[in-house]
Amino acid sequence: MSDARTPTLTGKVALVTGASSGIGQATARALATAGASLAIGARRTDRLDDLKSELEAEGTRVVTLHLDVTDEQACADAVAKTEKELGPVDILVNAAGLMLLGPIRDADTDDWRRSLDTNVLGTMYMIHKTIGSMVDRGTGDVINLSSVAGRVAHTGGGIYHASKWAVNGFSEALRQEVTSSGVRVTLIEPGAVATELNDQITNPDAKKSSEESYGSMRTLQAEDIGRAIVYAVTQPAYVALNEILMRPTDQTNP
Ligand code: NDP
Repeated sequence: MSDARTPTLTGKVALVTGASSGIGQATARALATAGASLAIGARRTDRLDDLKSELEAEGTRVVTLHLDVTDEQACADAVAKTEKELGPVDILVNAAGLMLLGPIRDADTDDWRRSLDTNVLGTMYMIHKTIGSMVDRGTGDVINLSSVAGRVAHTGGGIYHASKWAVNGFSEALRQEVTSSGVRVTLIEPGAVATELNDQITNPDAKKSSEESYGSMRTLQAEDIGRAIVYAVTQPAYVALNEILMRPTDQTNP
C-alpha cells in the first residue's frame, strides 16, 4: 500500500512551541507528515486540541502542552510531560514569538518586556530544559525562529530587532557549545510570512504600515517555513544547516 509520508522522522519526538498558529502550526503538520511524534505547545489550547485531532486522524502521536513560554516552570513542565508521554525531545522548534513594532521614542515599554520575555527568554528556557538530554544522547536538533530582522535593522523595529539579534547570538554560542556532541542548532530567518503576527502589534501606525507592507507582496506561506525546517532536520547527521535566510521573491526592503 502506498503511503504519502516520507518516513524520515519516524521514531523522533518533536516539541513545537507557538503551535496554535502560523509557522509553529505549519511546522507541526510538516514534521508529523515526515513521521515524527508531536508535542504541541501554546496558550490557546482550543486550537491545539483541533490540531491534535487533525494529526491523530492521520496516525501521528500527539501531546498538547498548555504553555506560556515566559513562565520557566511551565517550560520545564511541558518538557517533562513530553518526555513522560512520548519520550525525550529530539527536535525542539521555538516558534512562539511576537513582533511588536513601533518607534523607540514614546514606546510602550511593556511591549519591550513582552518581546524579550517571549522571543528571547522563552526560547532560552525551552533550550535549557531540553539541551542536557540531547547532549547526553548525542543527538538532537534545536530550531530557533529568528528573522531577517535578526540580521538587518531598520527604523520602527527596535525591540523586535533587539530580540532577534539576541536569539542569533545565543544560537551561535549554543552551536559552538554542543556541536561536538552531535546536536545541531539551526536559525530560521524568514522575511514576510502570511500569519497572525501583525495582529499583536499595539502601535496602530506601525500595525497599519506593517500590514500594508505584507499586503504589497506575495508573502511566504507558513508551509514554506515548515518545509525548510523539515529539510534541515532530515539532513545526514554530519550536515548542520546553521542558518536559513528566506525572503519572498517580491520583498525588496531589507
Ligand atoms: P503567529 O502570531 O501566527 O504565531 C505566534 C505563535 O506564538 C502563536 O502560536 C502563539 O500562541 C505563540 N505565542 C505567543 N506568545 C506566547 C507565549 N507567551 N507562550 C507560548 N506561545 C506564545 O506568528 P508567526 O507564526 O509568524 O510567528 C512565529 C515566529 O516566527 C515568531 O518568532 C516570529 O517572530 C517569527 N517570524 C515570523 C515572520 C512573519 O512574517 N510571520 C517573519 C520572520 C520571523 P498563543 O497565542 O496561543 O500562545
